[in-house]
Amino acid sequence: MFIDPHAHMISRTTDDYEAMAASGVVAVIEPAFWLGQPRTNVGSYLDYLSSIVGFERFRASQFGIRHYCTIGLNSKEANNEELAEGVMELIPRFALKEGVVAIGEIGYDEQTALEDKYFRLQLELAKELDLPVMIHTPHRDKKNGTSRSMDVCIEHGVDPGKVVVDHNNEETVREVLDRGFWAGFSIYPSTKMGNVRMVEILRKYGAERVIVDSACDWGISEVLAVAKTAQLAIQTGIPADQVRLACYQNALDVYGQSGQMKEEDWLNPQAIDQRALYEGNSILRGGREPVVGSTKDRRSMDDLIIE
Ligand SMILES: [Zn+2]
Repeated sequence: MFIDPHAHMISRTTDDYEAMAASGVVAVIEPAFWLGQPRTNVGSYLDYLSSIVGFERFRASQFGIRHYCTIGLNSKEANNEELAEGVMELIPRFALKEGVVAIGEIGYDEQTALEDKYFRLQLELAKELDLPVMIHTPHRDKKNGTSRSMDVCIEHGVDPGKVVVDHNNEETVREVLDRGFWAGFSIYPSTKMGNVRMVEILRKYGAERVIVDSACDWGISEVLAVAKTAQLAIQTGIPADQVRLACYQNALDVYGQSGQMKEEDWLNPQAIDQRALYEGNSILRGGREPVVGSTKDRRSMDDLIIE
């Protein structure tokens, strides 16, 4: 069993859900983020948050995958102050909904003053609501941005044991683990972090507080990244208990602190029933036969290495 604790499923297809389920993914966490282009008004943010706590959760369930999400104002859109102010008013209302496991993904993009302002406000909110935090670290000036993100958490009295610092690499992992935070790694095919590099990190640092995710979205990304990394790790001699921590248990332990994510959610799931409707809408098209009670293997695991 695997958990993919960072997956932007609204941008993925039903084939992807089927493939994830077939590869052993039992649960995903969908962090609130931007859409690839900036939102122009708070209404589109409202509908987005509604869909990640609502329809997307339903859609995942139709393929036997439990869907959770995080709620937050992302760093890119924090730079639009008018939008940001409106979104900040929405967040408390959404953060306490069923299936919300953290405030996130928040943090820095270009490390501007506005990003800093809304990052701090949301850390305070996470403390107030007693929710874990998912931090998006910047792709540019990553090392400094990662250190700074942790400094600000400490300054605000946020417990590192409730914070996942995501998108790590070889340069940032040591400091994140030494300071007691959880270290997430997003596996990107061909670029920053492939699964070969990830397995080497597991070998060097072990799996305590290490979390593997796909960060799959609308860009070039791999929905099977967690399963493939796990398989490669096992094949190259990483002990199975370590793989289980990094690809399953750690995500459950940190986000389970929300009280919203429990193993029995997927150990005793509701049977898949594609005849079900969400606000009158179905995932079925064109008179298709609904799946009731099982999923099929649609994609092979042979193509193992995605670096
Ligand atoms: Zn993301």
